[in-house]
Amino acid sequence: MHEKFPGEDRDLLKVAAGQDDWLDADLREFRAAVCDFCVQALTGQDHRTASDEDISGWSRDFGREFRHELGARGFLGRSWPQPYGDGLSILYDLVLADELEFHEAPAGTGLDSSLLHAPYLLTSSGTSRLLAELMPRYRAGLVRIGLGYTEAEAGSDLAALTTMARRSSAGYLISGEKVFTSGAESATHLIVATRDDQFSDRERHAAMTLFVVPADCDGVGIHLDRTLTGAVHARVTLQNVRAADWEVLGEPGDGWSLLTRGIARERAVIGNPGMVELEASELLAPDAATVSCSPAVVVAGLTRAIEARACSYTLTAAEEAGVGTKRDPSMMQVIKREAARDLQTLRLEHSQLSSAGTEGPPTFSDSAEWHWLRDLYYLYAAGGLDVSRMVIGRDLVS
Ligand SMILES: Cc1cc2nc3c(=O)[nH]c(=O)nc-3n(C[C@H](O)[C@H](O)[C@H](O)COP(=O)(O)OP(=O)(O)OC[C@H]3O[C@@H](n4cnc5c(N)ncnc54)[C@H](O)[C@@H]3O)c2cc1C
Repeated sequence: MHEKFPGEDRDLLKVAAGQDDWLDADLREFRAAVCDFCVQALTGQDHRTASDEDISGWSRDFGREFRHELGARGFLGRSWPQPYGDGLSILYDLVLADELEFHEAPAGTGLDSSLLHAPYLLTSSGTSRLLAELMPRYRAGLVRIGLGYTEAEAGSDLAALTTMARRSSAGYLISGEKVFTSGAESATHLIVATRDDQFSDRERHAAMTLFVVPADCDGVGIHLDRTLTGAVHARVTLQNVRAADWEVLGEPGDGWSLLTRGIARERAVIGNPGMVELEASELLAPDAATVSCSPAVVVAGLTRAIEARACSYTLTAAEEAGVGTKRDPSMMQVIKREAARDLQTLRLEHSQLSSAGTEGPPTFSDSAEWHWLRDLYYLYAAGGLDVSRMVIGRDLVS
C-alpha cells in the first residue's frame, strides 16, 4: 500500500549526490510535476489485487487509468522526435522513469517498453501510415506496446528465434510463441521479432523482420503465467497472424540492427536509479522496521544509491553530448541492478513484515520479501547481467 512516500529522505539523497544542480530548470520542473502527480495519484491507494495484478503489482485497470493521466498531463513524448513528440533530451525519459520507479507507479518498474524502448523504435523506423495512426494516441497515453522478442529457446541468444514470417498475397503471416512479453495482457499493440522466410539463405542475424501488430487481431493469444510473487507475466501465441507491409519496422531483414539499437536505449532508461533510491529510503525511513540497522549499513545504503544516481545521469548526459560509449547503457543497468539487489538484501536481513503507516494488517506485497522476490526476477529483464558484463568487457578491449 502506498501510505507513505519518504520524499524528504530522497531530497537528502539528491543533495548528497548534487545531481539535480546541473539539470536545467525545465527538467527540474518536469521532475517536480511528475513527482507531485505520483504522490497525489498513488498515496493511500490500494489497487493491488491478488488475482489480476501485472508484474508491478497494480491492477490492470488502474494501470490503464494511470497511463491515460500521464498522457493527459503531457508527461509522455518529451524526448520523442518531432512531430510526434517535443524532440527534447533523453534526460526527460530518464527523469520520468526515475520518478515512476521511485514511486512504484504502475508503469514505473523500469520495464515498461511503451515508455522506454518502443517510441524510439517506432519513430526511427515506422512507416508514415503506422506513425500517423499510432503516435497521437500513443502520446495521449492510449497505446501500450508489448515487446515480443524472447522465446523459450531464444533469450540471450535472440537470433535463435523461430517465430516465422511468411510472405502471403496480402503481406505476411506470422506464427510462433513469445515468452516474458511484459505488459502484453494490457497491450494495445505488440512488436514482434520474426525470422523472415524471404531470407532463408541469409545468416540468421540478417534474416530478422520486426512487425507492429494490434494485440487484439485474429490469431494472437495472450496467456498469463504466474510469477513467484503471485503477479502475472504474459506469454503470447501467434497463429497465422496477418501483417501488412506498412506494419513492418525498417527494412525487411533489418530487424537485428533495429532491435539492438533499441535495446541499448532501453537499458539506459532501465538504468535509472529510482528503484535503488526507493530501497535506500525504505531502509532509512525512521518508522521502518529496519531501525536496527547499524550506521555502517546506513552509509552502505546511501552510498549505493548515490553511486547509481551519479552513474545513470552522468552517462545519459554523456550520450546526449555525443561522447557516450557503447558500454554505457550496460554499465548503468549493471550498477543499478546490483545496487538495488544489495539494498533489497540488506532490507530483508534487517526487517520483518512491517505494518508501518498502513491501517489493516500488512500484505505480502508491502513486504521486503515481496520486493526481494519480485526483483530477483527483474535481474534478467533486458538481458542477464552476465551478458551485460560481456558487452562492457568487449567494448573495453575493442
Ligand atoms: C521481468 C522480465 C521482463 C522481461 N520483459 C521482456 C519483454 O517485455 N519482452 C521480451 O521479449 N523479453 C522480455 N524479457 C526476457 C528477457 O529479455 C530474457 O529473460 C533475457 O534476455 C535472458 O534470456 P533467458 O531468460 O532466456 O535466459 P538465458 O539466455 O537462458 O540466460 C540464463 C543466464 O545465463 C547467462 N548467459 C546467457 N548466455 C551467456 C553467455 N554467452 N555467457 C555468459 N552467461 C550467459 C545469462 O546472463 C543469464 O544469467 C523479460 C524478462 C524478465 C525477467
